[in-house]
Amino acid sequence: MYDTLIIGSGPAGMTAGLYAARSNLKVGIIEQGAPGGQMNNTSEIENYPGYDHISGPELSMNMHAPLEKFGVENIYGIVKSIEDAGDVKRVITEDTSYEAKTIILATGAKYRTLDVPGEEEYTSRGVSYCAVCDGAFFRNQDLLVVGGGDSAVEEAVYLTQFAKSVTIIHRRDELRAQKILQDRAFANDKINFIWDSVVKEIKGTDIKVSGVTVENVKTGELSEHEFGGIFIYVGVNPVTSMVADLGITDEAGWVITDERMMTPKAGIFAIGDVRQKELRQIATAVGDGAIAGQGVYQYIENMT
Ligand code: FAD
Ligand code: NAP
Repeated sequence: MYDTLIIGSGPAGMTAGLYAARSNLKVGIIEQGAPGGQMNNTSEIENYPGYDHISGPELSMNMHAPLEKFGVENIYGIVKSIEDAGDVKRVITEDTSYEAKTIILATGAKYRTLDVPGEEEYTSRGVSYCAVCDGAFFRNQDLLVVGGGDSAVEEAVYLTQFAKSVTIIHRRDELRAQKILQDRAFANDKINFIWDSVVKEIKGTDIKVSGVTVENVKTGELSEHEFGGIFIYVGVNPVTSMVADLGITDEAGWVITDERMMTPKAGIFAIGDVRQKELRQIATAVGDGAIAGQGVYQYIENMT
């Protein structure tokens, strides 16, 4: 019986593990891949305090290193479901199950992809899903933003502080984004639009992105466009299939928590990108993890 089982070894899960283990709890982290989560997808991190810049994989290793020292058990597994039987929670993976007094869900969010040729190849080489993280690397370049929702329009405006120009490509002739965000984008001289169109292919050199092939969905016409960077904002999905039956998510699927990071189910906590929150970043994931790591200790103290 673990005091707490953490699902996901991204920055949120690793921080929760550190805090819980330093409180002398018996802690396991179940992870399906390499520790670090989405941090492993970025070569340069410039907005994590304490580092001028650091690669994602290096920061992942640095965060992971102290866990062993404090006795956190790393468990490989793909979590399929969670059963809540009051004081005992059960975590079911593909091939076994584990019991714990508390669970911390730290499974993150997955950015939706376009699934077009070149997208995967040029991710982190000109294709990005995070303007806050990567925008500053594209100073004075012509950038493309894909999508017509709040994220695409808001981030396009954000990118104009770095870029020479920002083009928003949207598959319809009107934006989905809130009116106030649309007004800001329409009023910005650096922002252009390509309407009724989708990206068919992302092209580049051996090193980085160079442009896209675009299809007009009304006429079927294809055209070539040069861009130094492509930001894809076609929505994100929380990774919550394992808690689908627990009734702890909002309408969009994000996990609801209180200020202690506890979900509506007593003893089940959620942290990081999977949580209903405003800013999904490494620094905020780490903050959530610290609160939950301390929170499970207090919860268990009150149980006994
Ligand atoms: P994640 O990092 O998503 O980690 C979740 C973990 O859970 C993963 O390791 C996953 O394998 C695991 N998991 C999921 N489901 C299961 C399951 N069923 N069983 C077992 N394990 C599971 N933020 C910044 O602050 N600065 C940046 O420069 C920056 N750059 C970024 C660049 C890119 C390309 C991307 C994609 C994101 C970037 N971010 C950046 C955002 C940042 O990475 C995330 O906000 C942060 O990683 C969220 O941490 P998390 O621990 O909540 O989730
Ligand atoms: P979203 O609202 O789901 O918008 C996704 C956009 O991508 C839509 O315009 C959609 O087109 C387009 N799209 C989807 N799949 C596509 C594909 N395969 N190819 C091309 N385009 C595609 O996602 P989001 O903008 O990331 O926002 C997510 C949630 O966060 C929303 O609830 C949003 O309101 C909220 N949010 C709020 C703020 C804010 O309040 N400031 C900021 C950011 C996000 P269609 O329009 O044709 O469907």
